[in-house]
Amino acid sequence: MYWEKDLEIMPREELVKLQRERLHKTILQAAKTPFYRKQFAKLHITPESIQTLEDLQNLPFTTKEDLRQGFPFKFLAVPLEEVVRLHSSSGTTGVPTVIYHSAEDLDRWTNQVARCLYMVGVRKTDVFQNMMSYGLFTGGLGMHYGAERLGALTIPIGAGNSKRQIWFLQFFKTTAAHILPSYALLLANLIKSEGLDPKKDLNLRIMLIGAEPHSEETRQRIEELYGAKAYNSYGLSEMNGPGVAFECPYQNGMHLWEDYYLLEIVNPQTGEPCASGEVGEIVLTTIYRDATPILRYRTRDLASFIDEPCPCGRTHRRISRIQGRSDDMFIVRGVNIFPIQVEKVLMGIPEVGTNYRIVLEREDYRDVMRVEVEIKSELFLGDLQKLERLRERIQSELRSEILVTPEVSLVEPGTLPTQEGKAQRVLDQRKF
Ligand code: AMP
Ligand code: ZN
Repeated sequence: MYWEKDLEIMPREELVKLQRERLHKTILQAAKTPFYRKQFAKLHITPESIQTLEDLQNLPFTTKEDLRQGFPFKFLAVPLEEVVRLHSSSGTTGVPTVIYHSAEDLDRWTNQVARCLYMVGVRKTDVFQNMMSYGLFTGGLGMHYGAERLGALTIPIGAGNSKRQIWFLQFFKTTAAHILPSYALLLANLIKSEGLDPKKDLNLRIMLIGAEPHSEETRQRIEELYGAKAYNSYGLSEMNGPGVAFECPYQNGMHLWEDYYLLEIVNPQTGEPCASGEVGEIVLTTIYRDATPILRYRTRDLASFIDEPCPCGRTHRRISRIQGRSDDMFIVRGVNIFPIQVEKVLMGIPEVGTNYRIVLEREDYRDVMRVEVEIKSELFLGDLQKLERLRERIQSELRSEILVTPEVSLVEPGTLPTQEGKAQRVLDQRKF
């Protein structure tokens, strides 16, 4: 059940001790980087003065903007010849952010991912199809090496090319897959259009879904469609990539591996720590990485602590699923809305298909929010009154969730645009 039992169920006091040791090394590493060396000097901080999480909290946050400004080498703590790989963020605009890894960093990350996979039941007897893109994006290579370390037959198929995905799923009787949740929904449609039933005609038993926000309802749908268990997998390239936090078999929030990171959740406005259960921004400090130490990184991802002990016995703190990003919230007529709220409502309605889009426009100085929803094809053959009733139901359920009444249009399956990478759900066409 455990990949590294001693570490996974380590009593909290010991875990805190281990964190201190690793934090100490990390601070020494950080002091070698141009960015933190300058910061420590400016604040008159010596590496010895930072021993605990509380001491660390005297330091400012590190932001994505800092990483950008630090491009290319200001966060590098080892000589370049010790670096064996780099990954870069998936941002499409502006200067990229770069994370460098030493051979040992990669080895640790691989182990971290193997730990996650083992936790949810992936074994060497599994056939693991990795449907995430390979390359600078960490989802591909990161998960790949973890699966290989476990000894699973790992298929580096990458993202897209659904026909080929389906062929591999069938031919190699794939039992475990790493897949974007939005793509898992789309792929199920394609599998059906080939005359196959994703539940009966495939062998998937474990799916790792992550890299983008998704709701509990989406997970349940995926589980139902494929007849498999779907586990939430959270990570970001600045903190390695996949493997940062992962659900255990109890599917009750994600364990964040505290032997790799120091975890804070803070109020995004004030930066003050959040109480248990309160939603705030995840802030992470790497404590098990040499080449690119990052202290108090503001992830922009919103979640809350879940503090009841987990029946699985693991002592690493749990966080809720990601509720959204502090920068993907949009405001309609003064009301703050996260795309995940819309998704939660839609995926809870059985007649709703697998794709949707939120379009924001401005008409006569007024915000208009339109939700375009693909519905199941058989409904289009049915009577119009039924369709109208469905439309009204979606509208009213959305209104109670988001407190704004959106326009709702129902469209046939396959009509809304799809993306190869992470789904883009919001099209904001407003000009302010
Ligand atoms: P990247 O660094 O390009 O891999 O993107 C990382 C970002 O993807 C995170 O900061 C999150 O916003 C998002 N993300 C990754 N995993 C999840 C997940 N399981 N649930 C929600 N969002 C996620
Ligand atoms: Zn657990």
